[in-house]
Amino acid sequence: MHPSALFAIDSLLTDEERDIRQAVRKVCDQEIRPHVAGWFEAGELPARELARTLGPVGVLGMHLDGYGCAGLGAVAYGLACLELEAADSGLRSLVSVQGSLAMYAIWKYGSEEQKQEWLPPMAAGERIGCFGLTEPDFGSDPAGMRTTARRDGSDWVLNGTKMWITNGSVSDVAVVWARADDGIRGFLVPAGTPGFTTHDLKQKVSLRASVTSELVLDEVRLPAEAMLPGARGLSGPLGCLNEARFGIVFGAMGAALDCLETTLAYAAERQIFARPLASFQLSQEKLADMALELGKGMLLALHLGRLKERGEITPEQVSVGKLNNVREAIAIARTCRTMLGASGITLEYPVIRHSVNLESVLTYEGTSEIHTLVIGRALTGLSAFH
Ligand SMILES: Cc1cc2nc3c(=O)[nH]c(=O)nc-3n(C[C@H](O)[C@H](O)[C@H](O)COP(=O)(O)OP(=O)(O)OC[C@H]3O[C@@H](n4cnc5c(N)ncnc54)[C@H](O)[C@@H]3O)c2cc1C
Repeated sequence: MHPSALFAIDSLLTDEERDIRQAVRKVCDQEIRPHVAGWFEAGELPARELARTLGPVGVLGMHLDGYGCAGLGAVAYGLACLELEAADSGLRSLVSVQGSLAMYAIWKYGSEEQKQEWLPPMAAGERIGCFGLTEPDFGSDPAGMRTTARRDGSDWVLNGTKMWITNGSVSDVAVVWARADDGIRGFLVPAGTPGFTTHDLKQKVSLRASVTSELVLDEVRLPAEAMLPGARGLSGPLGCLNEARFGIVFGAMGAALDCLETTLAYAAERQIFARPLASFQLSQEKLADMALELGKGMLLALHLGRLKERGEITPEQVSVGKLNNVREAIAIARTCRTMLGASGITLEYPVIRHSVNLESVLTYEGTSEIHTLVIGRALTGLSAFH
């Protein structure tokens, strides 16, 4: 029996949602799975080609309306994230950053001209975007950011450094958050703008099939129209992060599902003491426990998806989903790794790749500690952040 069948997960989906899941799974099976372990090993990702492959499937800016975006519901978007992350968290990161961070920022806070210029080619995968919030000294506490935006006539001049930026060096446009006189503002910085350079971070052990870069802004001069007019203060970038975190609630379950499916197949084949590994009680306890956490995580993701579709979801609820599902996905990946024995440490199986990828997922889009503090504040009314 498939783990999802234990919880009758499919009975909670519409026909359209099942079709979208199938379409994304198909493109992953054909274009991504055969190559992804090699990309991971080489620490390289053909991001531009992949964006052009994924754009026509409709997953880039999938949950946004208009401007060439598919305008689908939150659950459909979540299922796409799940399928992408079942292939690799790096692929889901590419799509999340493009759609939920860069495109969402433009869609939500941009001028009509900015939307017309960037959203259609980004939805088609012809242009890539990144989202620069984190700095070398400010990750969990972005309010401390040092990147500045200074007015010079009608122009803006940006100075600062952004760190750990997904899609950074392959982007055509960077959404950069900087401190201006009237608070934190967002800017669209096209690649090639004088003074704007990127450097890839090379020594990653996690999320190797993903481009991660440093962005350096040295007296970068931008016209007045480069600013996102609708965002002022930290609520701008935090609104975008809430969108991307939602995708992770589903995505993490995709990585966990791929680990569990791999392990079920392995345990059925692998003979130990002249019996299949799957036939031992200790194995079945692990498998049953993992299926329970996977099913509960899926139910939580679907519940949050339906709340989001009704416009009722709160940031605290997204924190509940992100904290629980990434934590449980890591636990599942580690347990699966034990069941694969020595084979579990090789890239021949996807399990160790998912396991180390999920370490990044635990940290980005708000660390597990930060989401714990969000939930603690909601429960007690007391903030323990500072
Ligand atoms: C692969 C990857 C891709 C990324 N992509 C992007 C991107 O595209 N754009 C972007 O802007 N950023 C990106 N990030 C950055 C990511 O969002 C940050 O790494 C994250 O916010 C944590 O910041 P930090 O690494 O500076 O850790 P820190 O903030 O230095 O935290 C260190 C530790 O302190 C803990 N901590 C923090 N505050 C408290 C507290 N109040 N109480 C107790 N413990 C606390 C943290 O939870 C963590 O365990 C990416 C990161 C990675 C790894």
